[in-house]
Amino acid sequence: MSTPKILILGAGYGGILTALQLEKKLNYNEAEVTLVNKHDYHYITTWLHEPAAGTAPADHARVDLSRIIDKNKTKFVKGVVKSIQPENQTVTLEDGRELAYDYLVIGLGSSPETFGIEGLKEYAFSIRSINSVRQIREHIEYKFASYNSEPHRTDYLTIVVGGAGFSGTEFCGELADRIPELCKEFDVDPNLVKIYNVEAAPTALPGFDKELVDYAMEVLTRKGIEFRLGTPIKQCTPEGIILADGEEIKAGTVVWTGGVRGNEVVEKSGFEVMRGRIKVDEFLRAPGYDNVFVVGDCALIFNDQGRPYPPTAQIAVQEGENCGENLANLLRNAELKPFVPALQGTLASLGKGEGIGVVGSKKLFGTSAALMKKASDLRYLYKIGGVGLALSKVKL
Ligand code: FAD
Ligand code: NAD
Repeated sequence: MSTPKILILGAGYGGILTALQLEKKLNYNEAEVTLVNKHDYHYITTWLHEPAAGTAPADHARVDLSRIIDKNKTKFVKGVVKSIQPENQTVTLEDGRELAYDYLVIGLGSSPETFGIEGLKEYAFSIRSINSVRQIREHIEYKFASYNSEPHRTDYLTIVVGGAGFSGTEFCGELADRIPELCKEFDVDPNLVKIYNVEAAPTALPGFDKELVDYAMEVLTRKGIEFRLGTPIKQCTPEGIILADGEEIKAGTVVWTGGVRGNEVVEKSGFEVMRGRIKVDEFLRAPGYDNVFVVGDCALIFNDQGRPYPPTAQIAVQEGENCGENLANLLRNAELKPFVPALQGTLASLGKGEGIGVVGSKKLFGTSAALMKKASDLRYLYKIGGVGLALSKVKL
């Protein structure tokens, strides 16, 4: 019998942890494991708001895959997945290459959810990859640089962040920290800079603990962020945004952080999806395909109350570990282990030295939340690349 082929799509949190778990569990030649990714690096998505605002270099948020995976155990293919053909057990890449599999793991992450809002795809940026955050940083700097030759265009100095969920508030925290330095660099009066965080719901971070939300809003307001709550964005234009009540906010930069959906490749490949995510079974398998596993933001799982878990790195990591272990079990005809998330809490940064969070039943505010978030990020880096990787990314 030929060696079974396991194909992992995406080297994000879910895909990497699946590959690492397989490296740990499988014996030599038990399976041929291939990891496909757009780039030859893994990016730390949970840090992308920092390079987007320019408070950290983009390189800080990425790690060469060669530092994480063992090339003797996992073959790496650099390529962009175009489609999956589950009936034929093949995957087609954009350059025309076709890869066959016996077992597939889909870990392609998410795409911005634009809810069909006019102009968002064309005129707004989103925080989704190393390339996208480089563009955001460069664009903001370009607008600040342009202002001095067109001083009547104060709108160049206005930044709209659409959506005050976790990504929006974390990004605003970093932006507020960057503005003084940007103003100095481009000879701009800080009083002319405006950052709006626009949110459809009546509160920022809807659904989160009120005391923590109040704290976050107080910190961000103090740092100069103007919240526009209960006012959904209706349209994005080359000049800025239009709110549902018709008000226009002229802005040089619009960054959309209004939510995510599963990667478009999944839906285009014919899988049944809800907001681009596949509702998986207890072993993270796609309905109708016992050999197709889904991890991370492409997978939809529900809690005991029937509510979907939000797509987070925390869950993606645990899904990857479970999936790797179950693939090894499958190859050995051993029993599969159901996936049960073990939630450790939620932590969000609000710029340097500030944050909020809940760990167990304890609420964290300010420095303690910020430190806890850093510790949790470093724990992840240690998990994927050992102490050397973790230490190389320490940023105080
Ligand atoms: P990803 O980590 O996004 O990885 C997907 C991989 O697939 C990438 O390597 C990508 O290049 C690759 N890929 C995509 N399309 C293709 C293709 N067509 N072909 C080949 N490769 C492809 N969650 C938390 O738990 N805690 C946090 O603090 C936190 N902070 C966040 C901050 C920000 C700014 C953002 C945007 C998200 C944050 N999240 C956080 C959410 C978390 O990052 C995601 O839930 C997590 O990254 C999902 O992991 P994943 O493996 O599904 O996808
Ligand atoms: P989200 O869905 O959590 O938040 C999006 C926000 O945009 C919501 O508050 C929503 O009401 C708002 N919105 C939607 N349409 C709008 C409109 N037309 N106008 C104005 N506001 C609008 O999405 P996100 O913040 O991008 O996060 C994506 C996922 O990543 C979530 O699951 C989140 O939990 C996770 N994440 C976690 C962390 C963390 O744990 N620190 C950080 C970032 C992201």
